Formats: sequence, C-alpha cells, structure tokens
Amino acid sequence: MSAPHFLIAGAGIGGLTMALSLAHRGISATVIEKRTGFGELGAGLQISPNSGRVLDELDLTLPLKRVSVSSHGLLIRRWSDGTQLLEMPQHPERLPTPFRMLKRNDLHTVLLDAARAMPNIRLMVGRAVHEIAQDETSVSVALTGQSGNGETIQGLGLIGADGLWSQVRDLTGDTSPPVFTGYEAWRALAPGSKAEKPRVSLHLGSGRHMVHYAVAGGRETNVVVIRPTKQAREGWSRDGDTQVLAEHVAGGSQALRELVSSAKGWQVWSLFDRKPAAMAKGRIALLGDAAHPVLPFLAQGASLAIEDAAVLARLLAERLQAEGAPGVPAAMAAYAAARAARAARVQEASRSNGRTYHLGWPWNIGRDIGLRRLGAEGLRKRYGWLYDWRDA
Ligand SMILES: Cc1cc2nc3c(=O)[nH]c(=O)nc-3n(C[C@H](O)[C@H](O)[C@H](O)COP(=O)(O)OP(=O)(O)OC[C@H]3O[C@@H](n4cnc5c(N)ncnc54)[C@H](O)[C@@H]3O)c2cc1C
Repeated sequence: MSAPHFLIAGAGIGGLTMALSLAHRGISATVIEKRTGFGELGAGLQISPNSGRVLDELDLTLPLKRVSVSSHGLLIRRWSDGTQLLEMPQHPERLPTPFRMLKRNDLHTVLLDAARAMPNIRLMVGRAVHEIAQDETSVSVALTGQSGNGETIQGLGLIGADGLWSQVRDLTGDTSPPVFTGYEAWRALAPGSKAEKPRVSLHLGSGRHMVHYAVAGGRETNVVVIRPTKQAREGWSRDGDTQVLAEHVAGGSQALRELVSSAKGWQVWSLFDRKPAAMAKGRIALLGDAAHPVLPFLAQGASLAIEDAAVLARLLAERLQAEGAPGVPAAMAAYAAARAARAARVQEASRSNGRTYHLGWPWNIGRDIGLRRLGAEGLRKRYGWLYDWRDA
C-alpha cells in the first residue's frame, strides 16, 4: 500500500497548519495555493492559547517567540473620551501558553518555513482548484493556473482551506453566498510604544470601534478601525484613503486620533459573514474560513482554523491506523461532528460582540455599566470555554 497522501487547497494559516499537523503524524500532503507571492501589510492577529497550544505542539514555540509579543491583558475604553471601562491584567510569565500578538504575515512565514522544512509536504503555488471528483478510494482535483492548466492530482482526501470565497465549498454544492455585514475593517501599522505594557486595547464607539496592540517584538503597533459603510468589495484588501479615516475618527479621544494619524499604509477589508457549511462530504472536508468565517470581533478566525486542523489531522491519523484508506470518510464525518457546535458558537459569540461593541446612546450606557460590573474576573470566566479549549 502506498503512503497516505492528502490534498489541501489553500496555503493560508489553516491550510499550512493542516499540512504540518498531518506531516507530524507521518502523513504526506500537497498544498495547492492559487497565489504566487505572500505577504500582507498592516494586518495583525491575536493568537489566543486555544490555538497557540496547537502551534506549540507543532514545535513552533521558538520561531513564534521571535516574532510575537505576549499580551499583558485587555483594556477597554470609551471611543469619545478614552474613559476606562474595564481592565483585565494578564501575566504571560504565569501562562503555559501566552496570548500572542503578531503580524499575520509573520505567523504565515513561520508556518511556511516549517512546511518547507518537512520532506512530506509539497507546495504547489500559482495553481487553483478548479474541479473535484471523488470515488470510493480517492479524490481527484483538476487545477488551473500558470502551469497548472489541465493538470490533475490525486489524494486519499481533499481539505478545502481556501478561505471565505472557497471554491471547494462551492464545488461541493454549497452555494450560499457570503453576506456583506455593512462594516469594513481598516488596518495599518503605527510605531511601537514603550509607554505601557503590551496588551490589547479596545475603544468602543457608537457603530464603530478600534483595536490596537503591539506586534513585531514591540517595534510596531497594529491598529484596526471598524466602521460602517454601504459599499462592499470582494477580495482580501484595498488601499484606504486617510482623509476618509480622519473624518471617521474626528469624534474620538485625543489618544485615539493621534494613534490613527501616526499609522501608515491603511488597508481596507469589507467584512462578510457566511453560514457554516457542512464540514465534510465523503472524502472532502472544509476548515477555517472556508467552513465557518468568523467576524473579527472576537479575534478567532485564524484560531478556529488552527483548531480545526489539529482535530482533523488527529482523526485522520487514528482512522488510517485502524482501518487504512477506507476509514477516511468516517474520519472526516467525525471531524464535522466534533467541530460544528464549537464553530457555530464562536461565530455567534463574535457577531454578538459586534452588536455590543457598536451600541449607540442610550444602550451604550447600560453596556458600560455592565462592563464595569463584570470586571476582569467576570470577563475571564465568560471566555473560559473559548481559551481553555484543548484537543482530545
Ligand atoms: C480585520 C480582521 C482582523 C482579524 N483578526 C484576527 C485575530 O486577531 N485572530 C484570529 O484568529 N483571526 C483574525 N482574523 C481572521 C483571520 O484572518 C482569518 O479567519 C484567517 O486568516 C482564516 O484562515 P484560512 O486559512 O481559513 O483562510 P485564508 O487565510 O483566507 O487562506 C486561504 C488561502 O487559500 C487560497 N485560495 C483561495 N482560493 C483558492 C483556490 N481555488 N485554490 C487554491 N488556493 C486558493 C488563498 O490565496 C489563501 O492563501 C481577522 C480577520 C480580519 C478581516
């Protein structure tokens, strides 16, 4: 019997974590990526302990330490005058897995370097999944792209990790489209600040909010402003006009305005929501944004993709060992069953945060009183189910 081999569509955070999770279990993977170059500017990510533990188990602790900053907690302020609403201190030195803050591109590079170092991972860039066929023993994928026209590759299964606009999701018959939320995210990098301990800061305003945190070893600050808009644009990002943003933040506190004006290279993402997909169909599974995109109001989209990868790789390895290749559909079905409720809960918790963050007068007064009453311990307890997650 030939060595087990899987196909993964998409070399994003989810797809690369999937390839690494399989490779560490002795299973080979080919990752098909439609882009030829990587690298986004101005986009930061928070990687909370639930997904950070998965990355640690893939031996990425050291490379991640070099590029990330460990958070010392969360600070929530009012948009208009900077009044402090809640402070939740954290002591990273006491946590086995820190709450990491880093540039998305730095995380991607760590994953890409690790994947390139594994002999049982093959990366095919500049090719997109075009057609899929599955039978009782394998999946065939027809590729398009630079040199991929007409090329067909085969594996024991296909994992669609190709993001919000997933072609794999479409090809498995789920054509429910992403729905524009009426919001867009502006992201940029500002110079780092030595004035305070690195932590996540949140500024809540009516119909808008801002998040900022240290990245790149503290040399830079990732700044994200969420604002309502009528116009949606597909795709990953586009350049933002600083004049439009300056007008949007004009009613914000002085510190908020100063931070926004010190940030450079604004990129804008339209925010889309999408119903969760069926996460497995025969020998095809979906993970990450392809399966259940998460709005950024809980900072969990990449984390959920990383968790998905850990669970799916474990279940595939277990079934392959017990039953060989015929066990793949059952492993994928078990994965869907294991992940569906958590993914839906995270999606809903994020939507709910968005609604709460953006409350206008007078409801925001009730929210602010509620936040003060909740306090640091209340907030920690509220999210225990999220950050304490571990794979079986
Ligand atoms: C403003 C904002 C802030 C965020 N902050 C956080 C945060 O703090 N923490 C967090 O965990 N998440 C955060 N997220 C969410 C996070 O960025 C995404 O959830 C995450 O990148 C999803 O990873 P993925 O691998 O599923 O998809 P993607 O990262 O989208 O990767 C998909 C890959 O598939 C490729 N591809 C697409 N189509 C094809 C095809 N047909 N064939 C082959 N390849 C294809 C794409 O080129 C891409 O490389 C944020 C998102 C936004 C917009």
